[in-house]
Amino acid sequence: MDPDTPPSGPAPADTAASGLTPSGLTPFDTAAFDTRLAEAWIGAIAAAVEKEQSRLTELDSAIGDGDHGSNLRRGFTAVLTALDGLRPADPGAVLTRTGTTLISKVGGASGPLYGKAFRAIGAALPGPADPAALAEALSAGLDAVRLLGRAEPGDKTIVDAWTPAVAAFRAAAAAGATLPGAAAAAADAAEQGARDTIPLQARKGRASYLGERSIGHQDPGATSTALIFRSLADTTADATDATAG
Ligand code: ADP
Ligand code: MG
Repeated sequence: MDPDTPPSGPAPADTAASGLTPSGLTPFDTAAFDTRLAEAWIGAIAAAVEKEQSRLTELDSAIGDGDHGSNLRRGFTAVLTALDGLRPADPGAVLTRTGTTLISKVGGASGPLYGKAFRAIGAALPGPADPAALAEALSAGLDAVRLLGRAEPGDKTIVDAWTPAVAAFRAAAAAGATLPGAAAAAADAAEQGARDTIPLQARKGRASYLGERSIGHQDPGATSTALIFRSLADTTADATDATAG
């Protein structure tokens, strides 16, 4: 039993009616990454991929086969269809379904990598999550990418944006940041990480076939990872504005 719970007497009526979750977060707690925010995040990623498709494709044309934008667009379009009508029990269910759909719909390297990442995030979420719990789930997503792709930081891949994003999210959460604050720090770090791939030589994926000719171009996968984290920042900031207003 929770040591703070009085040993006897009825629970206050408002607590009983408010739908407190096992983690003690109410559905209206702005600190919580809940099912509604998970759905909004995925919707924002789908919109960002749609908007940035040609940029992702240009980047992948320079050092790959030019399909990164269309791969992600096809994947996230299928994800929106898969989520439509799903009655997810918790945010984890949203992200698990997202990952499963990406794995089945995207042929390129990014499909299985992002698919495994979202499935791992979904599996790691304890239910509605506070910033510290979301940091750990995002870290589990990175672990999944690295387990499948075997890329190290500096190999010019998704890992080069996701690694600093997780570090920034975790540090912000540990310092007491709100969800939008931690997500904004992570998005800034992911964007910096993506820019920092420009001087790197690719050592994983198709771009590695180019050897030194991969130097001087921003990695498409690191760029889409930055979109994923920027979408999380925008979504959580919007949710807070809506609650405040
Ligand atoms: P494909 O390379 O099969 O055409 P995409 O174009 O969709 O797939 O994705 C390319 C991106 O995938 C690269 O820019 C890189 O960031 C990422 N990537 C490739 N291989 C790996 C890997 N082993 N680990 C992490 N990311 C990788
Ligand atoms: Mg490609």
